[in-house]
Amino acid sequence: MKILIASRNAHKIREIREIFALPPSVEWVSAADIPGLPDVEETGTTFEANAILKATTLAKASGLWALADDSGLEVAALGNAPGVHSARYAGEPCNHANNNAKLLRELAGVADRTARFRCVAALSDPEGRCETVSGACPGRIIEERRGAAGFGYDPLFVPDGHTETFAEMGDEAKNAISHRGRAMTLARQRWAALLATSPARFP
Ligand code: IMP
Repeated sequence: MKILIASRNAHKIREIREIFALPPSVEWVSAADIPGLPDVEETGTTFEANAILKATTLAKASGLWALADDSGLEVAALGNAPGVHSARYAGEPCNHANNNAKLLRELAGVADRTARFRCVAALSDPEGRCETVSGACPGRIIEERRGAAGFGYDPLFVPDGHTETFAEMGDEAKNAISHRGRAMTLARQRWAALLATSPARFP
């Protein structure tokens, strides 16, 4: 059985394969491995809508089961922005340094620095029947960047109960508590046994 990871991001693909740890009879393939798949525009207004859009579009186009995720940062004082616009918060092209600079400008002088990362994972069968799970990681936005690991807003985000930013923690410590780590752990609990039986579609 083949399962398509609806991403071209090698880091994400490796992480998902490791978390699921499915039997060798299951082969994970990436969107980059299948020529002619459509580029899915993330037109949804929620993480859930975008994850479902990516998973169902690529499942139906490939005839395979497809797993997608959508994630971003919600800042309370900014009305939960940047949210689904996290990747392109400071405009095109997607640039993490500019996004971080914009976030610090928007929060200048703001006392409430409460924020959370969110991630929704969606699994679609080849007919487009889809289920989702989600994970969140609460924390706060600090005044200046710290740390060099990770990506995106990691240098500005300190998770609750910690003093280091995600970018100071390193991958393993981050994945143990992150929104994506939590969503993917739930995804494994919910779907790994089902996928290991190579079903044709959701029961
Ligand atoms: P996507 O889920 O790949 O579409 O990511 C959306 C955007 O949200 C990324 O480009 C980052 O700006 C932000 N983001 C999502 N997850 C993380 C994370 O774990 N650390 C830092 N930024 C993140």
